[in-house]
Amino acid sequence: MTRDIHQHRHSGARASANPESRDSGSGAGAPSRNDSGSHLDQGQFLTILSREEAIARFEAALFPRTVPGERRRLADALGCALAEDVTAPIDVPPFDRSNVDGFAVRSADLAAASEAAPVRLILNDEVIACGIAPMRPVLSGSATTIATGGPVPRGADAVVMIEHTQPAGNRAIEVRRAASPGQFVSHAGSDIARGEALLRAGTMMGSREIGMLAACGIAEVAVARRPRVAILSTGDELVQPGNPLCPAAIYDTNGAVVTAAIAENGGETNFLGAIPDDEQALETAMRSALAASDMLVMSGGTSKGAGDISHRIIGRLGKPGIVAHGVALKPGKPLCLAVCDGKPVVILPGFPTSAMFTFHDIIVPVLRRMAGLPPRADAKVSARVPVRIASELGRTEFVMVSLVEGAEGLIAYPTGKGSGAITSFAQADGFLKIDALADQLPANSETDITLFTPHVRVPDLVIIGSHCTGLDLITAPMAHAGLVVRSIAVGSLGGLAAARRGECDLAPIHLFDEKSESYNTSYLTENLELVPGWRRMQGIVFRKGDARFEGLGVEDAVRAALADPACIMVNRNQGAGTRILIDRLLGGARPDGYWNQPRSHNAVAAAVAQHRADWGMTIAPVAHAAGLGFIPYAEEHYDFALVKARKQRPAVQAFLDALASEAGRTALERAGFRPA
Ligand code: AMP
Ligand code: MG
Repeated sequence: MTRDIHQHRHSGARASANPESRDSGSGAGAPSRNDSGSHLDQGQFLTILSREEAIARFEAALFPRTVPGERRRLADALGCALAEDVTAPIDVPPFDRSNVDGFAVRSADLAAASEAAPVRLILNDEVIACGIAPMRPVLSGSATTIATGGPVPRGADAVVMIEHTQPAGNRAIEVRRAASPGQFVSHAGSDIARGEALLRAGTMMGSREIGMLAACGIAEVAVARRPRVAILSTGDELVQPGNPLCPAAIYDTNGAVVTAAIAENGGETNFLGAIPDDEQALETAMRSALAASDMLVMSGGTSKGAGDISHRIIGRLGKPGIVAHGVALKPGKPLCLAVCDGKPVVILPGFPTSAMFTFHDIIVPVLRRMAGLPPRADAKVSARVPVRIASELGRTEFVMVSLVEGAEGLIAYPTGKGSGAITSFAQADGFLKIDALADQLPANSETDITLFTPHVRVPDLVIIGSHCTGLDLITAPMAHAGLVVRSIAVGSLGGLAAARRGECDLAPIHLFDEKSESYNTSYLTENLELVPGWRRMQGIVFRKGDARFEGLGVEDAVRAALADPACIMVNRNQGAGTRILIDRLLGGARPDGYWNQPRSHNAVAAAVAQHRADWGMTIAPVAHAAGLGFIPYAEEHYDFALVKARKQRPAVQAFLDALASEAGRTALERAGFRPA
């Protein structure tokens, strides 16, 4: 079902810094004096198209088109699509061939052979090794010595294994069992028959295909010329991996991931790096990239921020220009699709996850058609989604999931961390799709999951809950030993809920109970038992050398912070155990920064290290890793709620062993944790 959602640009609106509000802003471009687009183009700019309509317009502007072909030597054809069917020019094997070391015989000679009545055969004076063409026929009463792979001589119709014969004096053998006609012989053409269809047009050339062609003596094939695809990242903030990160900069993720995804789908890639948000520089780069390529894939700068200019340049690069800008996808709304004089020009959204989803959903089918490849055959499985997923009405939504094995089939856990995240893509097994017309996926829905890999790797150990770097130290030896450990970070409460439903083996939790003033125990239910993990020292972080904190105890440090009106704190989210400690220390005070409430220990350390705040509360290993000063305060208990019914599973036992092992404890201590 398709549907257009028309949305008007708020005049002069600027993109907000909030990624969510940004992504859900209108897909319209900022007005520009340089805009050379017609009124019609302007109209398209202001329209959010349904996914189906956007694809239809893009494909209508690109197809039909001829896929240019070329001849390639086998060694250079890997990854190319065959341009035509290939029929076998010869038989493979080309002659009747022996499958064993032994003797070529006439089976009729051995019809009566048995233990009681051995048959004596005279050996011909030649030996048929591989590559030797036989000269003498096998006449009745004779046999010819033959090696595996040797051509069967004239007259012979079977081979007997050397193990089933005995020497009988000089140049003769004795055979004590009958041989059936054709025994141990591969007949000419039995593997590949001359004239047989070997490979079909559109087949992606892999090692197996190359092997089949080589067996037929084919050295060169007609393949579709791989489309040359130029890749450009855009943004002043982008730094290429391998270079140091300066303040406010981030690494260019899209450049690497888009380039790899294009190569995976038949494109010849030319990654041109990241271009700053400068109209002149960008136009120059886009023009030269397009001139040398069949397709241009960019990312970033498609929203309506002041720096977002690439879509304005597209209008000057060729006809018809932009065909869709703003598609009802989540993530991926700012996607911009254009065709310039027959060449696709695509601007993917900047956020890596948005970029990848739109790329795979909308660009891959087009790229594969241009590369002469058939549509991608994605593997799908059915799984139950245990939690409700809210969805925006009017946008086709993609949600990444991790798969775990439940009692009654597969369970799919949503793992998205927002469209800015890249790890969710690497850790997920696949994704599900929520229709544009649905506003939610109800809990316990049975849903199709499209897999990222051809097979589901069902994990041996499933850990759902709060993540800690200490956990990686314990599971590392298990992973190295070949066990698949799946750790899904959903926070302590989410993990506890999963454990109560029996959907995981272990739920790592650090939940403080104010009533009992203790950690974790009071949260357990009948089906769970507590496995003590380790302690994490919480305390005040500050920048080393800050005289307001250096050398003080926690209470004095907080007093000093509150006494200085210029001092800014960073808080934690409601519900975090750390937050309870902070509120207790503040005793009702609300200093500047109190409402800055990130959800992780690392975010607190980053805020202090980057001078956005002067103090906060985090755990010792995180403070030390960030090079910050630390005043210890109280220990947090990071333990595991173990699902009793799963305790005897080998992987659970392996985890418990690793946790109790000397090596595990030493690794934890070295990283700044205190094993319980
Ligand atoms: P933009 O649409 O250019 O404003 O980008 C939206 C968000 O995606 C911003 O947070 C950008 O920093 C980020 N982003 C843009 N391009 C890339 C890239 N190549 N790699 C990683 N993040 C990017
Ligand atoms: Mg940008």
